[in-house]
Amino acid sequence: MSPDKLPIWSRYAYPRHARKPHEPRARIAWDDTVLPFQLDQSDIRGRVARLDGVLDRVLEQHDYPAQIEALVAEMTLLTALIGQTVKLRWKLSLQVRGDGPARLIATDYYAPTEEGAPARIRAWASFDENRLDEGAEPSSLIGKGYFAILIDQGQGMAPYQGITPITGDTLASCAETYFAQSEQLPTRFSLTFGKSTEPGRGESWRAGGVMLQKMPKASPFAATAEGGSGEEGLLEAADILDEDEGENWTRANVLLDTVDQLELIGPSVTPTDLLIRLFHEEGPRVFEAQPVQFGCTCSEEKVRQSLSIYSAKDIGHMTTEEGIVTADCQFCGAHYEFAPNTLGFEATEGPDAKANEAEADGQAGEQAGGRG
Ligand SMILES: [Zn+2]
Repeated sequence: MSPDKLPIWSRYAYPRHARKPHEPRARIAWDDTVLPFQLDQSDIRGRVARLDGVLDRVLEQHDYPAQIEALVAEMTLLTALIGQTVKLRWKLSLQVRGDGPARLIATDYYAPTEEGAPARIRAWASFDENRLDEGAEPSSLIGKGYFAILIDQGQGMAPYQGITPITGDTLASCAETYFAQSEQLPTRFSLTFGKSTEPGRGESWRAGGVMLQKMPKASPFAATAEGGSGEEGLLEAADILDEDEGENWTRANVLLDTVDQLELIGPSVTPTDLLIRLFHEEGPRVFEAQPVQFGCTCSEEKVRQSLSIYSAKDIGHMTTEEGIVTADCQFCGAHYEFAPNTLGFEATEGPDAKANEAEADGQAGEQAGGRG
């Protein structure tokens, strides 16, 4: 049974043998890491990811309903698996936008600034609470829309963006379609995520998964393919591969099908043992693991910058009755307050002017009066 078919709400208890009595309840060494690997026999590369603390940190920034948490958890795991390939200092963002009650799931992956440093991940969701149906499968809450990947390579470089329609019944299947259609790269995800319970620790979110991807060819012939065999003519793995490649790809996928949920997420099978168990005949070779952690990059400076396009009149409309302009980071909940006269391209004061000074000298009334 494919892990994709397993109910994502199934909870699991840590197996009793997972931790010997003398071992402290310490973090598991391979939690919150992404381990890249390659299957030498079949020109396939992949990653194994386990998220533990990082997922709790991402979700504790918000107070989302359980179904939205599940979508964010899946998206965060996809982000860790996909993001691991981007270069130092690049930023990779995933977005799913739909017309259902879950309007937007957005994540950012900040590649490490130097080799060996942790990558940082953050996420948020926008949803319509009144339309949430508690009994519905989380992925059914997205509706019709699109899945996008954006890569920001830093200053002076044009950002890269690819978009495909939402397909299948999981975010993982959306990502598989994205890679087939947009990058002509056959890709497969096997993901598990949910709340785990460990004695003495209470509930916490965990996620684990494996990603497989066919190595890119020098000249992908499929770039000119006229419509694929997937949903609405979108390309699928079989449309992109020739016969030999197709065999290799199918074999690796059949092997991945034998993985069970606890192997992906549980604490008792290391990622390297998992790869040997699944792919020993394919010559698995692992590379250095990438640690990941929660991280938000918001700052007062960045908020000021984003507001610098507005006129004094626009800033006036944003000013509260208390005479300040406030901004909350959607990713981490950080709260920023500004004096209105320090914002926008018509600012009359430097950024050091305190928000409450505006109130003290009576400007607040004027600014608030300008609302409407
Ligand atoms: Zn933030």
